Amino acid sequence: MIGNRSVAFRFVLCTALLGCPVARAAGADCPDHPDALGTFRTLVVDPRQHPHIGTMQYPETLPLRDHEVVLTFDDGPLPRNSNQVLQTLAEQCVKATFFIIGEQARANPEGVRKLAEAGHTIGTHSQSHPLTFAKMKLEQAQKQIDDGIASTSAALNDPAALAPFFRFPGLLRSDVTENYLASRGIQVWSTDVLADDWHRVSPAKVYDLAIKRLEESGKGILLLHDIQARTAAALPKILHELKARGYHIVHVIPATSQEPATPTDPQDWKMHPPSESVPVARWPKIPNFVYAETDMLAAPALADFDTSDGKLLLSSERFEHVKRHGVPLPSEAPWPRLAAVSTEDMGVMLPVPAQDLFEMPEDANAAFRSPPPRLAHAVESETNARSKRASGVRRHAGHGIARTRQAAHAAPDAAKHQPRASRGGARRQVRVASLKKR
Ligand SMILES: [Zn+2]
Repeated sequence: MIGNRSVAFRFVLCTALLGCPVARAAGADCPDHPDALGTFRTLVVDPRQHPHIGTMQYPETLPLRDHEVVLTFDDGPLPRNSNQVLQTLAEQCVKATFFIIGEQARANPEGVRKLAEAGHTIGTHSQSHPLTFAKMKLEQAQKQIDDGIASTSAALNDPAALAPFFRFPGLLRSDVTENYLASRGIQVWSTDVLADDWHRVSPAKVYDLAIKRLEESGKGILLLHDIQARTAAALPKILHELKARGYHIVHVIPATSQEPATPTDPQDWKMHPPSESVPVARWPKIPNFVYAETDMLAAPALADFDTSDGKLLLSSERFEHVKRHGVPLPSEAPWPRLAAVSTEDMGVMLPVPAQDLFEMPEDANAAFRSPPPRLAHAVESETNARSKRASGVRRHAGHGIARTRQAAHAAPDAAKHQPRASRGGARRQVRVASLKKR
């Protein structure tokens, strides 16, 4: 990896200082494949400054420019598929980051060495890939992490070639484990883009998802699996399409004492940093007032703090009350109160009402008096006559209602068009009969 860094460093100089065309630089590093995608630049990162990256889980991601992609491969190495992936990357002259499982490294140490010799970055992915990191005890998590690092280092000729990069299996993170990794200066890599290549999907689907999701995000870390045959099959087309669409591959390596981190601004570590070309709501700042004539402001007089009784702030009584009783002395509100009004002189002041104010016309209460005998008899006769009519109605009321309902059922229109007065009359009669019954 170290030897390859010098090549990458020259390339950074070429692109940053000399403005060399990308295709020429890629061709220069990839003489056998002049049409290769190539590695556009190398990004050197300091894990201690940015301990968690990948917008799927963290606020920060790698400081990539638009249309820059970082390729990552998990779970290897597995000889057949990993070798095919390695071959495709070599043909396109692109550098990636591999997250190795410790047990895979023990089973296939030669595969790990091949990755390192090809100049790829090597991180770790636990010892046995348990999908329980989110609920695992710290001691277990530490052992998984440490054993994974030890197994991968053992496979390398130069253990220093192992980058302090870690990815949780299944991205199943936990705070305590992240804290442990940060304490060791190990950077946690989540991702920005998935291609779902661990599912049982076709290589065409892996390709579709990778390109579609990269187009949506415009840049980012792409997570793939070199142990998957579908990924190995899809990778040539993915890389070809990335070049056709103007994407650039960025190779990421950790900072060392010899190779400092690439200078960046904090906003570069955001997926979409604020830009001058993007409208952003900016609230007006609070103006800075300049007090040019401060000498004109007089110190407040003690009387300015007086209440209406002049005692509130000048007396320690209330503070003493709080000290003794633990509650403040209820204070009187300083605003106006209801004034007490004396009623002693009211009788003298109010005039006596005139007598005629209480007089009423002679027949004003006639309606409340009992009727004369003749009139009472007439009322009784009328009541009896109504009663007889009502009982007749009562005898036929059921039939009448039944008939009405039958008629309404048989000819609803006819019932509807029955004269209103007639229907109202029947109802009144029934009501009278009902009252009489009671
Ligand atoms: Zn994995």
